[in-house]
Amino acid sequence: MERHLDRLPDLHADVLDSMPNDTGGGGGTPVSGTKPPRLPVNLEAAEVAGQIEHDIRYWVNLVAETRGLNGPVRPSVTDRCVWLSGHVAWLSASDHAAEVKAVLAELVGRAFRVISPMRRPIQLGPHPGCDGTLRATVTDADGRHPAQIWCDGCTLEVGTKDWWSFGVVYGKAAAEDSRELASSTSTASA
Ligand SMILES: [Zn+2]
Repeated sequence: MERHLDRLPDLHADVLDSMPNDTGGGGGTPVSGTKPPRLPVNLEAAEVAGQIEHDIRYWVNLVAETRGLNGPVRPSVTDRCVWLSGHVAWLSASDHAAEVKAVLAELVGRAFRVISPMRRPIQLGPHPGCDGTLRATVTDADGRHPAQIWCDGCTLEVGTKDWWSFGVVYGKAAAEDSRELASSTSTASA
């Protein structure tokens, strides 16, 4: 949950970047308010951006109302995500935990699908001993998103300097897992 909230503001910015529109030289990011972007070229990106904005606003409102709190002062996706991050413990313990988790994972997944292929994570496979899927984000040179291996089901994050050692451990664990699964599934690795 926390990781997704941490990731979403940048992803949202990337989705907006992937959505060339005709706002011209006005400056300022068009995140405020509910006005949909005008005639974006990439309609899917526009939809994903809108979905992120909508869902994050929804969860902020829900938490704020349920807990009798004020939401973030500025209504940007970034501020809302930061604000929500402060309530992860509460959300995790609430009836909404599973739904929030699923929604955030879906938003992250959808965002990755519409942004630059360079920034899309590579799916590595199941994380042994965890329900999650391991992915590697390999980025271009802008440095906004460091390359890392991460798991969508737990808090694992592996920086590039540890990829090699992680790969060795992962290979062993995956081999054990696949021996257990060998009877039920046969995956052809091309
Ligand atoms: Zn995991």
